[in-house]
Amino acid sequence: MSIDERQSVLHSWSVQADWRAPTVVGGQGARLHLADGRSVLDMSSLAECSNLGHQHPKLVAAIRAQAERLCFVSNAWGAEPRAQLAAMLLERSGFEGGRVFFTLGGADANENAVKIARQVSRKPRGAVIARDRSYHGATHLAMALSGDSRTQQQVDAAAFGVQHVPPPYAYRCPFGSRDADECGLRAADAVAQRIDALGANSVAAVLMEPNAGTNGIVAPDTYWPALRRATADRGVVLIADEVMSAFGRCGEWFAWQRQGESGRPDMMTLAKGLTGAAVPLGAVVLSRDVAMRLEHEMLYTGLTYCGHPLACAAGVAALEAYAEDGLIERSRKLGAKLFAQAKRLQERHDVIGDVRGGHGLFVVIELVADRDSRAPLAPWPQTPPALKALVDAAMAEGVSFATRGNLILLAPPLVIDENELADAVALLDRLLARHFAPAE
Ligand code: PLP
Repeated sequence: MSIDERQSVLHSWSVQADWRAPTVVGGQGARLHLADGRSVLDMSSLAECSNLGHQHPKLVAAIRAQAERLCFVSNAWGAEPRAQLAAMLLERSGFEGGRVFFTLGGADANENAVKIARQVSRKPRGAVIARDRSYHGATHLAMALSGDSRTQQQVDAAAFGVQHVPPPYAYRCPFGSRDADECGLRAADAVAQRIDALGANSVAAVLMEPNAGTNGIVAPDTYWPALRRATADRGVVLIADEVMSAFGRCGEWFAWQRQGESGRPDMMTLAKGLTGAAVPLGAVVLSRDVAMRLEHEMLYTGLTYCGHPLACAAGVAALEAYAEDGLIERSRKLGAKLFAQAKRLQERHDVIGDVRGGHGLFVVIELVADRDSRAPLAPWPQTPPALKALVDAAMAEGVSFATRGNLILLAPPLVIDENELADAVALLDRLLARHFAPAE
């Protein structure tokens, strides 16, 4: 029996009257099984979460085994999977001697990272610098951090001590640079200038995504190391929001690792791929230096379910599965192919203005009204009607594509079969030709 949930559920990020979606009853690998008997290829990993694919047997078994042993103890007690997962995260990230603070998801990981940064830097009301065109979650502070013109109308970022600076968005460089590396340096310099303008003593943290999840802005290679230097020189804590970009999504365990040690942040926040989304879990990973500054002080934060044993058991199994199944390297290899395929689509379809990615299975295609002027196809946050029609047509052919405004986000589970991936790109090619034929 299928119940129409529109009669009972308030759906997030939706106009309720418009919410329509098929019911998912199961899944396997990169496929979702629908209540009407169809199976669809998931090209978005359900909001870039299910990196390990759906119903990964190792995760299901680990959750089942933990549930049979011990479902819950609070943070006042120790829990084996919690200790194990924290140790694994510190080891994988090279944060030796650091600590892990567990949360329920990405937004509260970012909230807690900011609280911790303010506490350790002795700036309880210190400013936090974040970026335009970013997303950090939907709790109140996380929304204030998010540089999204739509959500900024809902929250007074200044009241939360948040300031925004322009992003290293090479395709539309806010600094007018034509060269991507130069754009990256100018964007990092804008952070340094903002810290100096506010006074380093009144800035607690800089919180940014190495790769932006909602729009695929990949910072040029010059950006993150320059940001690291600018914050370190000024005694400001650098927080990498890796909620989307970690666990192979951007070709590394953690996206900052692409820059080696010169990109190492003071803290990073995690969620999504941490458990492959099988159970909700987030984390803040603290460097040894940050952790030691907290060692003898009260930590004024935490929610009842932080470090829930079921979630941590799923996290342990997920980290093991990424390594055993070679998924980080797989994402790097398939991501390079997907990027090359998307670039070929750009050669064939004038509507494609930009293709971003190239690091892991995360490629974003930006549609434009005019390639020369780079005019957006539809004003943000609208989705062009032809793109909506394309998504519906793809769904009818068994492939689910995620879009956001003028963007098509390609982020399939890292386990996707290579032929299925190629078929999905071929379908996109056909549908772009059908729905965006050049005017005669
Ligand atoms: N940070 C980034 C980069 C994200 O992509 C997201 C979610 O999409 C979040 C934070 C918020 O995570 P959550 O929805 O788990 O609170």
